[in-house]
Formats: sequence, C-alpha cells, structure tokens
Amino acid sequence: MIKKTENTTINKTATSGEKTPAQRAAGRPATRRYVKRGDAPVEKKTVTSTAHPTGRPHHSNSRKPDPRKTIKRGTRSRKGPTSKTTYETDILKTIPPLASGDIRIVPVCGVEWITTNMTFVEYKDEIIVIDAGLGFSNPSTPGIDYTIPNTAYLKANQHKIKALVITHGHLDHVGAIPFVINDLGNPPIYTREFGALFIKKKLEEFPHLNNVNIQTVDDKAGYIKLSENFKVRFFGLTHSIPDSSGVIIQTPLGGIVSTGDVRVENHDGVVDKAEVEQYSHFKDENVLLMTMDSTGIEKPGWTISESIVVENVDKIIKNAKDGRLFIAAFSSQVERLMSFMESAKKYGKYIALEGRSMKSNLGIAEFLELTDFSHVIPIEKIGDYPQNKIVVLLTGSQGEEFAALNRMSKGTHKNIKLQDSDTVLLSASVVPGNNYDVAQLKNRLYSGSYNIITYNDDVVHASGHGTRAELKWIHTQVPYKFFMPIHGEPYMIRMHAKMAAQELGILKENIAVPDNGSIIEIRENGTKLVKLKEKIPAEPRIVEGQKVKDKQEVVFRDRKALAEDGIFIIVVALDPKTGRVKKSPDIISRGFIYLRDNQHILQDVRGMVTDITEKTAKAQKQLDFDKIKQNINEGVGKFLKRSTHKSPIVISVVLGL
Ligand SMILES: [Zn+2]
Repeated sequence: MIKKTENTTINKTATSGEKTPAQRAAGRPATRRYVKRGDAPVEKKTVTSTAHPTGRPHHSNSRKPDPRKTIKRGTRSRKGPTSKTTYETDILKTIPPLASGDIRIVPVCGVEWITTNMTFVEYKDEIIVIDAGLGFSNPSTPGIDYTIPNTAYLKANQHKIKALVITHGHLDHVGAIPFVINDLGNPPIYTREFGALFIKKKLEEFPHLNNVNIQTVDDKAGYIKLSENFKVRFFGLTHSIPDSSGVIIQTPLGGIVSTGDVRVENHDGVVDKAEVEQYSHFKDENVLLMTMDSTGIEKPGWTISESIVVENVDKIIKNAKDGRLFIAAFSSQVERLMSFMESAKKYGKYIALEGRSMKSNLGIAEFLELTDFSHVIPIEKIGDYPQNKIVVLLTGSQGEEFAALNRMSKGTHKNIKLQDSDTVLLSASVVPGNNYDVAQLKNRLYSGSYNIITYNDDVVHASGHGTRAELKWIHTQVPYKFFMPIHGEPYMIRMHAKMAAQELGILKENIAVPDNGSIIEIRENGTKLVKLKEKIPAEPRIVEGQKVKDKQEVVFRDRKALAEDGIFIIVVALDPKTGRVKKSPDIISRGFIYLRDNQHILQDVRGMVTDITEKTAKAQKQLDFDKIKQNINEGVGKFLKRSTHKSPIVISVVLGL
C-alpha cells in the first residue's frame, strides 16, 4: 500500500518526557505517553526504528545529515521562477526590497478565511516559512479539491529560504507541503514528532517527492540554529493533536512568535497549572512580535474543559449496555480519540476504527505508542463480539458524503447496519457551512429508533481553538512588543486586534491587521511596526486531482452558472452558399427550465436564432462563423434572461452544410 521513498530523511534533534494538559485531564499516567523515548525496551518504536506503521524504514540518528548539506544534495533549484503569471510578475516588481536590518513578516494566507495557513519571516537574505496548510472547497471555489497558499514571492526568493517550520500536524498547517515544497526550494522541514510522521505519510502519495528532509524537534530542545540569522524554539501548548506547538523564530532583533492553533485547558476559567508552566519560559524571552490564532475570538469566555468531554463520554461508554456505540468525531482530535480508547479499555470493551483519516491518524498514535491499542479489532470482525462490548470510532460527523457515518445512515455501509439497540454519539459541533449536510445526516439518523446523542444533549465536544478569555490569557503570558492576529476570517482578525487594543492596552501603532499577502515590517532597530501598501501575490492556488492551478475566475463563474441556471445549447445548420438556415435550429438544455412546459420559449428562440444567423450572414462578405455564434449567444442570452430571469450558459454551434 505504501511506497518506499528511501531518500526521505527524518532526524530527531531531542527527546521529551513531557505530556500535554489534555492528557493530564484525561488522567493518563505522567510518564506513559513518551515512556518509549530513551527507554530501551521500546526504543524500537522511535523514528530511528525500521518498524513503521506504513512499512517504511526510517533512517537512523547516526545518519543525521547537516540540513544545509542535504539541501545541496537535494532538488533545490537556484533558478528563478518559471511559471508565474504576468500579473504576478508585475506585482513582484512593485515590492520594495527589504532594507538591511529590518524584518519582514508576511501572512501569505490564513487571514482571509480559516485554513490554508502560511506565514514567513524574512531578514537580510534569509527567509523562514511557518506552516504550509491547505483549505477545502468553499462557495467561491466550487468543485475544487483544495486551496493552497500562493508561493510566487517565495519561489522568486527561493534561494533565501532556509527552513519550513511546522507548528502541528493538522492539514490546514501541513497539507500543502507536497504542492509547495519544490517552489520553496525543498528546504528542511522542522516539526515535532507527530507532525513529522503525519507529513511523511502524506508524502507517500507523492512518490516523486523522495528527498524531503524532515527534522524532528522536541519542545525541550531549546533553540536550534536554522541559518546565520535565525534560530527556532518549539514550545508545547494545548490544541487537539499530539505535539501541538508554538514556535519562536529568533532573529537578531528579537523573537517572532507563532502560536499555531491554541486553546487553554481550564476549569470554569481557572487555568490549569500545566498551562502556566508551558508559558513560563517566556519570562526569559525577548519577544518582538507575537502572532496568534484568532479562530475562537468571537466566542466569549472560556471553552469547556476537554476533561469534561472525556468524563462525559466515559460515562456514555460505560453505560452503553444494550448495544453497540458508534462515536463520530473529528479524526484530527487525536488526543480525545485516545481518551475514548482508554475508556473502552477500562470497561472491557473493544474498539473498531472506521474511516480513512481515523485509521491514518490513530495509526500514527499507535506507532508512537501514545496509548493502548491491544483492544482494537478490525471493523469486519465486530459481529464476532458481544454487541455491548463494541465501540466504533468513525468519521462523518459533518455529514460528509462518503464518510462512514453517512453511509451507515443511508444503509449503504458494507460492514455496518444500524440496529435499534445501537447508540450513535456525535462528538463534534457543526462546522459553519456544513449545517445542511449535518441536518440531512440527523434526519436520517433520527428516522431510526436507535439512541442518538449530540453536543446539544450533553457536553460531548469542546473546541480545539481557544475562545476570547483564553486568547486574552495567552496575551498576558507572553510579554511582546508588537502583535499581529492570524488564523481566521477577516472579522476575527479585526476582533482580535480590537481586543488587544481595547482590553489589553496594546498601542494601536504596535498592532498589525493583515490581509493575505500584507507585508509587515519591523524597522528602526526593532522599534517601529509598518504595514506596507504593497502586497505580495496572495491569490490562493487551487488543487484539482494532484494538479496545482491558478484560480481562474471564469471557470468558477461557469461552474456557479451551471449549478444555478444550467446550460442551453443551440445547433444551427447554415447553407454557406445562400446564407440561409437549412432547418429549424436544434435546442438542447440541461438544468435550465422544464422545456416541455415552456414550448413557446423554444419557438421564440428558434425564430430568433434563424433571424440572427441569416442577418449576420447577409451582412458579411465572407462568412464569419465566430461572429454568427457570438451574435446568437448574446441575443439568446438576453432573451432568456428577460423571459425566465435565468442566465444559463448559452453555447451555439453553427454548421456549414
Ligand atoms: Zn489545528
């Protein structure tokens, strides 16, 4: 299943014995999660091992290469950009060069909608990129697979890029790596262990990317030198996936902090001790600029403690005595899923995993021995065990079309038919934009007589993104000079900036409010924050299949028109000798209006097309078929709009017969 890519290197820079607050909350033993590290009996499971869930061998620590040497051996091209559009080339020409001694920080993407995160820091002739995430189709990009950040500026400055630093292994922070790593000149990727394995697994789908250099870093490693002017330090924080981190990019003028995605574990607003410890090192840091997740800024107060979610679901697992329990959750919330597995173990139940991303993410957790997997059974075997001993963790909480829960709700799942005695738990909230799909899913689930539990019934979900009070608390833990909110919709970015100014007393001139591609500079020896009027090219690229394309507005306009108003095709047979239409034009339409009930419109269109064709032909000395088609399309388009209030795509075909 997995192809071997021998040249991919993963190196460890340090190891850790620390655990996250979510784990503490879940009551895991303090040393359990990372007990394997530095511990001889389980050493075979570290990244230096040849045993891997994917069957791919790892390289050993003894072969740790100098990152810069690896770059020289790798595919880094020092040639300039080759495929930029003229539009982008023109923008690049307008960008003033960075003055020596100033720092440039640019959120390439991730501040105009949630996901597709990428920011970079530039100083002298060096650049460090932070995160390379993807996004999914939205109403402005119908039919695409992903959006990815625009790398035109970075590609043009490829020779300066020294590293790609990853905060955590969620797709909206690492998913674009296979599509952009060559544009960045294949720099070494610095990430913590879970992220390293997640990236490596993703890269297996791209066998041509066989020399990506991944450096696994620990949050206790302190500062790691990236280049002449840059160092990086990873620090542990709480989110929803193992090894979630913030990073400090140290420059000669001070640190640039990116929190990545972040929340704060608390109980009714009292912050857990472990959280305070996680930020305690900042008292010794000189932070010039802090950038922070803004996703949860709109919600007031504190998030519900993840430990309450875990406790509540623990009870549900314990009390599911009549039948099977199906838990649909985000596969990205790996720490929560591991807690559910532990509860099942505690009550002598078996776990089955269903859904590709569920199996893949927990596969990494199994490889890292983050929790016990001894009670996991294949989904095909659940019929062999007592029903009340079965807990299935599955994908599909958002009503995704092909996800496991959706297929179960439709009765089309190969292995699972829901029964009256079953319980279905949705341990997830509804992501904005998915309301319709989730409602349809619930309609189907509630039409059965099994027991349904959602986040409206009990506390079975908490966000991985800190709400207002949590973000505010983080602000108070990091003494910084300048602030730039990132990760969010434009209104979230602005709410966050406003909170910093009004509630935390940060001077307005010390806050940058960016758009995608905004060029923020720290000048005058680190004392002045400036937002340039120029922007780097920031229109996201799109991915369809494995192909990266520029976003073509016309394509999306057509897709929307096809979806909303359909298509209207006219075929005309023209006698080139006489300039007369030979027979009544043929009309084909799809998704427009019900033609059988609108015969008069068809009659009118046929007459109109004949008229336009013959008049245009008569006026021409030599027949110009393109001009005839253009006149038909315009005339018919206007007529249909007038008579039906719809604007289908009109296509005409004129045949000279
Ligand atoms: Zn995340």
